[in-house]
Amino acid sequence: MPHADTAAPYLPGAPFFAYRDGELWVEGVRVADLARAHGTPLFVYSAAAMRAAVAAYQRGLARRDALICYAMKANSTLAILEVFARAGCGFDIVSGGELARALRAGAAPDKIVFSGVGKTRAEMRAALQAGIGCFNVESRAELEVLDAVARELGVRAPVSLRVNPDVDAQTHPYISTGLKDNKFGIAHDEALDAYRHAAGLPALQVVGIDCHIGSQITSTGPYLDALERVLDLVEAIEAAGIPLHHLDLGGGLGIEYRGEQPPAADTLWQVLLARLDARGHGHRRLLLEPGRSLVGNAGICVTQVLYTKPGAAKNFLIVDAAMNDLPRPAMYEAYHAIAPVRPRHDVPEVVWDVVGPVCESGDWLGRERALAVQAGDWLAVGSAGAYCMSMASHYNSRGKAAEVLVSGDRAQLIRARESVSDLWRQERALALD
Ligand SMILES: *Cc1c(COP(=O)(O)O)cnc(C)c1O
Repeated sequence: MPHADTAAPYLPGAPFFAYRDGELWVEGVRVADLARAHGTPLFVYSAAAMRAAVAAYQRGLARRDALICYAMKANSTLAILEVFARAGCGFDIVSGGELARALRAGAAPDKIVFSGVGKTRAEMRAALQAGIGCFNVESRAELEVLDAVARELGVRAPVSLRVNPDVDAQTHPYISTGLKDNKFGIAHDEALDAYRHAAGLPALQVVGIDCHIGSQITSTGPYLDALERVLDLVEAIEAAGIPLHHLDLGGGLGIEYRGEQPPAADTLWQVLLARLDARGHGHRRLLLEPGRSLVGNAGICVTQVLYTKPGAAKNFLIVDAAMNDLPRPAMYEAYHAIAPVRPRHDVPEVVWDVVGPVCESGDWLGRERALAVQAGDWLAVGSAGAYCMSMASHYNSRGKAAEVLVSGDRAQLIRARESVSDLWRQERALALD
């Protein structure tokens, strides 16, 4: 095994993504070999990184009655779902499409929980027919509709209410979900009433309580605050004669994009379990819904430099990946590390804005990055496993990128690059005068 390079560029995801012998490797495969074989832009994932991320949660929850439901909106590619299903995970879904994907990937239906503020009757029906484990209901109106749909089918729907603990997750406003003014969940002070209402509806079976306060949370404080608030509710709900079987504490644990140091999943759970035990709730079944922390740093996006465009005010590096492949910078001004696949020392380092070909000023991947590169070089965009491919679009009639999964020294194409005819497959030629 070659030695790791000492002065290597910064890229999260070690040890699964690492520089050895002057170039970037994913596990036992050279990233450059994958880029040459499959073209760019190309998402490259490490199966070992995903398994290690699940294992950290499993260690933290060892000897507890717990189920990790991978929040598949983070990355819903079938082969990736299969990795998580085989690791023992259930799935947190937010649409009928995700239900179908999860089942297609071999998910056990009773390990599926269904979240989201806008479930349609058709989606409820499909989930009831599949026999999912729990609906995380987000409003009183949804309780009524779910009860009606379950009655029509002659079944009982297992439900949790998603409560809004009104705590600040201290994250980006677009990915904070646990405050009073969010569209998500049932307000803390209305939760007990909503539980009484749910318990009175004949085709619903109350099984638990759920909360999810936001995403990219990098400290334990917001989780502890939410846990205290949820346990207060659990005690009040059970005092009202409604037993709760499980406690779902959502997802949201952050990852390193740029030197952040979020708690490891096992450390976080050590702290939360200690608090749970101290309040006498240690026996409860626990559900979790992590997304980003299971896949975010298990993927990179490889892109090729098309043009260098130095200028008086700014230097632009124009690459073949764009906001349709990697929407997070445009959507949230998110930071992704950008590093050369094969660092070179024969050209000077220049400060570049790394931008894509899409006709929008918002189409940038990174600003003011010092890189020594030339046209034709490959770059790796880091932390691209979560909320990248699953948010990709066809804007500018750009087909979706290809995806490769690596395990050890083997690589498999898990999504072929889209062709233009894929893009217009559902379209019809003009038939009117
Ligand atoms: C998005 C989402 C998650 C996952 O969040 P991450 O930050 O990716 O861990 C979990 N639960 C619900 C209800 C969500 O909407």
